[in-house]
Amino acid sequence: SRAAASSAPITEGALADGTKVPLLANVGSPKDAPAAVALGAEGVGLFRTEFLFLDSSSAPSVEAQTVAYTELLQAFPGKKVVARVLDAGADKPLPFLNDAHEENPALGLRGIRALRATEQILRDQLTALANAQAATEAELWVMAPMIADVEETEYFVGLGRELGLRTVGAMAEVPSIAVVADQVLEVADFVSIGTNDLTQYTLAADRQLGSVAAFQDPWHPAVLRLVGMLGEAGAKAGKPVGVCGEAAADPALAVVLVGLGVTSLSMSASALADVRAELLTVTLDEARERAARAVAARSAAGARAAAAA
Ligand code: PEP
Ligand code: MG
Repeated sequence: SRAAASSAPITEGALADGTKVPLLANVGSPKDAPAAVALGAEGVGLFRTEFLFLDSSSAPSVEAQTVAYTELLQAFPGKKVVARVLDAGADKPLPFLNDAHEENPALGLRGIRALRATEQILRDQLTALANAQAATEAELWVMAPMIADVEETEYFVGLGRELGLRTVGAMAEVPSIAVVADQVLEVADFVSIGTNDLTQYTLAADRQLGSVAAFQDPWHPAVLRLVGMLGEAGAKAGKPVGVCGEAAADPALAVVLVGLGVTSLSMSASALADVRAELLTVTLDEARERAARAVAARSAAGARAAAAA
């Protein structure tokens, strides 16, 4: 229960058999760091950098970005911090990156596509991240949103390495990336699954539209099967595959995700205690059994019930 979870000691994320599952925090600003640390985050699994610049009319300078990123990294000495480069477009338009009118912005020039079309903005951001990496003790990982295939992965990983970043990966939010996960994981150092967008695009249901909200359910077996494909490809490649969407904050679903091969979970810091407590109740074999029942279900509701059975 929530009360039991919040009074339990803060330990590293692990299953009942000792399998480690690092539990990380989603943050939008250096201001979020103290709460994440206090609630036992083992690092940051998603730093939504675009949140810093939603009100900016022009692209931020390398210097301003270096200051902000360094401030966040300093709060996590020796810990992992996964920064996402600007995810502009659709629900998070940035005036300096998204100026054209689009009928369907979720299917438009969003995320890595918008950055690639304005490459100097991406170069400046990667340079600022490399500066922060050099100035602090945190272990900085950098990833791009909305990567669709291995060609985009090669582009982003190549640019990140050229500009001095050590660990460079791809978010899995577009279903195509799960289909070619083996190719992507040959190139990327890691993958982090954004279940909010992965669900939106798998079920073709706008995540902001109330009339189709019932489709926006990461328990849907189609979404779980894509997660399983990514987890399996990660295990074969020997590379980490995390989840940083809201699905990781649902304790019962967190267990299923681990059973599908997910190696770390990142969520709002307020969700860490409940997820930590739930993981401690199952072994890896039990998590895999629950996952197998969930992916065999015929609906999101069916998967929830099957995992609990
Ligand atoms: C996601 O899509 O699951 C994700 C983590 O990114 P955002 O919610 O910021 O689009
Ligand atoms: Mg997303």
